[in-house]
Amino acid sequence: MADTVDALIIGAGFSGCYQLYRLRQSGFKVKLYDAGTSLGGVWHWNCYPGARVDSHVPNYEFSMPEVWRDWCWSERFPGWEELRAYFEHVDKRLDLSKDVRFNSRIIRAEFDESGRYWSVTCQDGHQTNTRFLLSCVGFASKAYIPEFTGLGSFKGPCHHTARWPQHGLSFSDKRVGIIGTGASGVQVIQEASEDAASVTVFQRTPMIALPMQQRHYSEAQYQAWKAEFPKIFQLRDASGGGLHDINPDRQAAWSVPEEERSAKFEAAWREGGFQFWSGTYSDILSHPDSNRLAYEFWRDKTRARLEDPVLHEKLAPYEPLHPFGAKRPSLEQHYYECFNQNNVELVDLKQTRIEAITPDGVMLTDRHIDLDILVLATGFDGSSGGLTRIDLRSVKGSSIGENWQQGVRTWLGIGVPDFPNLLMLYGPQSPTAFWNGPTSAEVQGDWIVDLLCWMRKKRLTRIEASHSAAESWNDHMEELAASTLLPQADSWYMGANIPGKTRQLLHHSGVQSYLRHCEECRLKGYDGFDVS
Ligand code: FAD
Repeated sequence: MADTVDALIIGAGFSGCYQLYRLRQSGFKVKLYDAGTSLGGVWHWNCYPGARVDSHVPNYEFSMPEVWRDWCWSERFPGWEELRAYFEHVDKRLDLSKDVRFNSRIIRAEFDESGRYWSVTCQDGHQTNTRFLLSCVGFASKAYIPEFTGLGSFKGPCHHTARWPQHGLSFSDKRVGIIGTGASGVQVIQEASEDAASVTVFQRTPMIALPMQQRHYSEAQYQAWKAEFPKIFQLRDASGGGLHDINPDRQAAWSVPEEERSAKFEAAWREGGFQFWSGTYSDILSHPDSNRLAYEFWRDKTRARLEDPVLHEKLAPYEPLHPFGAKRPSLEQHYYECFNQNNVELVDLKQTRIEAITPDGVMLTDRHIDLDILVLATGFDGSSGGLTRIDLRSVKGSSIGENWQQGVRTWLGIGVPDFPNLLMLYGPQSPTAFWNGPTSAEVQGDWIVDLLCWMRKKRLTRIEASHSAAESWNDHMEELAASTLLPQADSWYMGANIPGKTRQLLHHSGVQSYLRHCEECRLKGYDGFDVS
């Protein structure tokens, strides 16, 4: 006998937890299913050494007083252990777990048109019927591993960063190979460099890593700050990226006198976090000259930290390989200094290739590297991958993966034509990766809750994004992309890290303009959706 609910949420990260809390509060019968064994979403899976958030607190937490009132972070950029403890605290305060089914990977869902409900199947065969299916699968739930020849033959431990063993894995005195220098790669390299016998870093493209400027808080300090939290959360929701104190100057960077610009760059550098990426001038990601100025500042600062001149060109090339910030920068604490250590070697995959993974290590074009542990920091089939791997059937019988073969189509990044009553949070064609996770979970989450309450009030039971609205949203996304430098990088923002994936901007790069579109849609009776 299938369970029956008003709403079934897929995913127990910030978005799913918030939906569960708010929908339950609004009187809906709601359940949440997650493939993992605890709340936390990405922080359940990403427990690799060094895994840490790049959004500073208190931005990276829920704004409900009953949650923040008695929670204190010990670091400005908390690590995964503390984030997990935070989710345990959230669970205690909001009593979420009683409505969560863990170990429940959803593998299939089809819409019953006569009953207007989704029939959902978990991997263990469990069935659920739900009026609304809320996708909170995140943008990083499908790990991507390139097809290396011989990968399965490696004798030692070999893990993708997002599938790290929950019981941990020590690097101490081991020969560690790390493939990939994206955000996770940077974090794990720093950690491994501390006690591994050797660390071999296989790099395709150098990361533009920015100084984190970590800070530690005592409980008293954090507690004292809380008087400002209501204001901070308001500012966070009204900001361009969901971080309350990152608001760029509207002037064009290139037009500002050099001395003034350098002072602003320097201040952002010292402040740390994403301040240098998105808190200096608003045209950094759209004007090539301004972008180049930011790049040169970063390059010169970075080169000064590298002892070996050969590494200058490999880690901070004189000419940018892509516009600054068009790939997501990572935050680092001592990343560049790692390469000054004797136990760390950089393998430049622009000069040699990985021919195969062998039982004992990695075979390059010109030599073999012996390894005990292999770390695959190779990223994600981001944004759409979490959904397309579910056999989610449209009313016409095709899967969502088939429908998106030529590119993702959505209305507002929330609704999908031919998939009635499916609503996505933090999904493709929403701001997602350009929006602080918890801010998105709450702001976009409230919009969804309002929609469901509105439908209930009007006794409506079916909502579907129209094809014309989805096409117009896609045109809007294309215009948006063209107004930025983002298409000039082969990034996961553009879906370009996955062979064969359609190249398109997958994340809306203007949070406040996105929210204006959502508000307009709501005010016009959810224009762009067919409701009945
Ligand atoms: P997630 O946290 O991704 O949760 C999705 C959940 O869905 C997972 O638990 C997964 O198990 C579940 N799921 C997926 N598919 C299924 C299925 N078929 N069946 C059942 N369950 C399923 N964002 C920031 O704003 N700032 C940062 O600094 C930042 N750092 C990050 C660092 C790392 C290493 C990673 C991977 C992501 C980071 N993010 C960051 C993005 C992060 O995804 C968001 O901050 C936030 O966690 C999104 O929450 P979510 O609930 O939308 O999704």
